[in-house]
Formats: sequence, C-alpha cells, structure tokens
Amino acid sequence: MTAATRVLVLNSGSSSVKYQLLDMAEGVRIATGLVERIGERESRMEHVPRLSGTGARERHTRFADHDEALAAVADELAADGYGLDSPQLAAVGHRVVHGGLRFTEPTLVDDAVLAEIERLVPVAPLHNPANLTGIETARRLRPDVPQVAVFDTAFHSAMPEEAARYAIDVRTADAHRVRRYGFHGTSHEYVARRTAQLLGTELEETNTIVLHLGNGASASAVSGGRCLDTSMGLTPLEGLVMGTRSGDIDPAVVFHLHRVAGMSLDEIDTLLNRDSGLRGLCGENDMRQIRRRRTEGDAAAQLAFDIYIHRLKKYIGAYFAVLGRVDALVFTAGVGENAADVRAAAVAGLDGFGLAVDPELNTADASGPRLVSPPDAGVAVGVVPTDEEWEIARQTYALVTA
Ligand code: ADP
Repeated sequence: MTAATRVLVLNSGSSSVKYQLLDMAEGVRIATGLVERIGERESRMEHVPRLSGTGARERHTRFADHDEALAAVADELAADGYGLDSPQLAAVGHRVVHGGLRFTEPTLVDDAVLAEIERLVPVAPLHNPANLTGIETARRLRPDVPQVAVFDTAFHSAMPEEAARYAIDVRTADAHRVRRYGFHGTSHEYVARRTAQLLGTELEETNTIVLHLGNGASASAVSGGRCLDTSMGLTPLEGLVMGTRSGDIDPAVVFHLHRVAGMSLDEIDTLLNRDSGLRGLCGENDMRQIRRRRTEGDAAAQLAFDIYIHRLKKYIGAYFAVLGRVDALVFTAGVGENAADVRAAAVAGLDGFGLAVDPELNTADASGPRLVSPPDAGVAVGVVPTDEEWEIARQTYALVTA
C-alpha cells in the first residue's frame, strides 16, 4: 500500500480560499494556489504547480460557493496527477483563527469540535465562519480523510495569566471569556523555531522577539519556544499600528466617539478595524506606497510611518523587559520581510539594547532566513520569511501520524 504522506492545507476566508498541497515525507510543496471573489460575478483562480515547475494557470469564471471553489482546486490538482481522491492524501489541515480557551493544540475535527468553533464566532465574526465553511466543504469532498484544525490562538495559550488577563472585574471577564488570546500564532511559532535554527541554538534556550508585520501586525516575546506575551488581545485589534487597524488606543476613545460624536458601536468597530492604522493616518495601507510618498516629501505618509515605528519600538522595549535577555529580534510577513526601511527605523537608536542593523545586509536583495545585524551586535537582528501553511501541514501531519 502507498503511504499517505500528502497534506492539503486550506486557509478559507469569507470569499477566498488559499491552498497548498504538500508531501511531508519528501518535505516538498506540490502545488499552491488561491481562489478569490467566491460568490461574486466573476471569481479568479490561480493554481501554481510547484513540483513540476510548469507555469501558473489562471481561471476567470464564477464559483458560486466554497464547494464549487474546492471542486475546482481538486480538478486542477487532478490535472497535475495529484487528485484529492488519492489514497496518498493523509489529511486536510485547516487554519482556524480563534480557538478560544478550549483549543490549545491542533485538533481532529468532529461534530463537537465544529460546534465549539461555531460558538467562538462572536469573538472572531469575520474569520471563524469562513474557516468553518472551509472545513465543512473539505469534509464533504473527502469524508474519510481526517480534517485537522490548527488555531491561530493556540501558540499563545501558554501565555502566563499575568499577560493573558486584562485588569478588569474578574467575574465579568470570566463570564464572557474576555482575555487576551493573541493571533498569528502559527507564524510566531514557526518563526521562533526557524530563528533558533538560523542562530544554531536550541529552541529551548533561545529568547526571541518576533515581529509579524503584514497588513495585520503583531509582536510576541518567545522564551524557549513558549510565548510569554503577544500584542494582539481578545481580537486582532490590540497592539501594533496595522494596515487598517489602530492597535492600542485608550478604550475611552470608544465611549467618546459614541457619546460625543454620536457614532454607533458598529461605526466605531469599522473605524478602528478598517479605516484606521496606516490607512486612517495617510489614506494608504501599503507600505510600498508609503515609502514612495515619504521619498517625495509627503508629510502625512511620514507621520504615519513615524507613528508605526514609534509603536513598534515601544513593544520591542517592553518585550526586552518581559524576556529579560533577548537573543534575536526577528522580522517576518509582508512588511517585515520586505521593508528594509521599517527594519532600520525600528532599531534606530536602540543600540543601548544591543540592537543594530548592518545597512548593506539589511538592504541586500535576498530572500530566505538571514541575519541583518553587524557580526559583533549584542542581539541578532534577523529576517525569517514566515510559512504558516508549512507549519499547519507539519502540525496536521504530526497529529495524524502520531
Ligand atoms: P496579510 O496580513 O494580508 O497576510 P502580508 O503578510 O502578505 O499580509 O503583508 C502584506 C503587506 O506587506 C502589504 O500591505 C504591504 O504593506 C507590505 N509589503 C509587501 N511587499 C512589500 C515591499 N516590497 N515593501 C514594503 N512593504 C511590502
């Protein structure tokens, strides 16, 4: 019998599905792709066969729902000779954003697990319903194959209580499970492990500050592979300045906008989650455009950048204090991996912490995990491209082969 060594990873959004098929025995990506604008007049699919190296294929046609989208994914994979009906498919790994208090590990999906993920919808209204749809769709396609949920919050569930609790009335907090869960956990976990490899140290002995700077952004303090603190909270709104989210604000801003500006709670929710952050400050949430505008002397873009960097520095300083000793400060995700100007500005003036970047290494046209600090730096500064799909596949495969 052929061993089942393939894992399909699905990251399902409300109108999109990102997918990867990997072979865990070979340690390779077979194919990757994306279906977007599901349910709209015209959807778009991009399928990239990675192993065969034949070029990407695009489809522009309507996929009415996730079932149709996944059927198209199955077709494309079958055309490459990797049909999802193959006995070699070991499992499907799903990204699930919110695992609440219950899910602290990758979890084999059954009806009870689905019901529990559903129960968490109020704290992740944008993400959990879409993640659920993805699981249900994949289950219909291959009911005989294990479906595994890997939670964005799981890695942070090891946070000590003093970091996870808000200082509010305990009974109210407990009754409504109001606490800090943190997100991007799969990324923080992957990057922390990869950083130890880069440094040539044992994960158990390595203290790392991970800065996941994408459109959403979060920082975490990781000691010996355990998360001691992270910047996102009950929802992904807390913490760093993001593409469209404010990050930390005085909660009284909400009362003020409601009472004084007459805004509804939904309007304030939209303001803080979608119309704030870099976009709120300068009309743009793409760091590439902000860089361009800064070089042209645009004052709003400059101020947005300065606020973004100021917040980053505050978290870097805070996590030095949380960790006590830091071996590495590591940048990841779209901004962290690509924006040398952000990396340089984030550590500028922090030489007292042992932090510096080497200008040449920092701006070198490189990909892959690398150090960008001078060789004699007190603390290593690195860039480690995140790979959440790989991490989800790894955890999924480990669970089903355990
Ligand atoms: P998401 O949070 O959507 O997963 P990503 O991690 O893909 O986001 O990051 C997307 C963001 O990365 C973009 O909004 C953009 O600001 C930034 N970005 C991507 N490429 C570059 C680049 N070359 N230089 C600066 N910023 C970049």
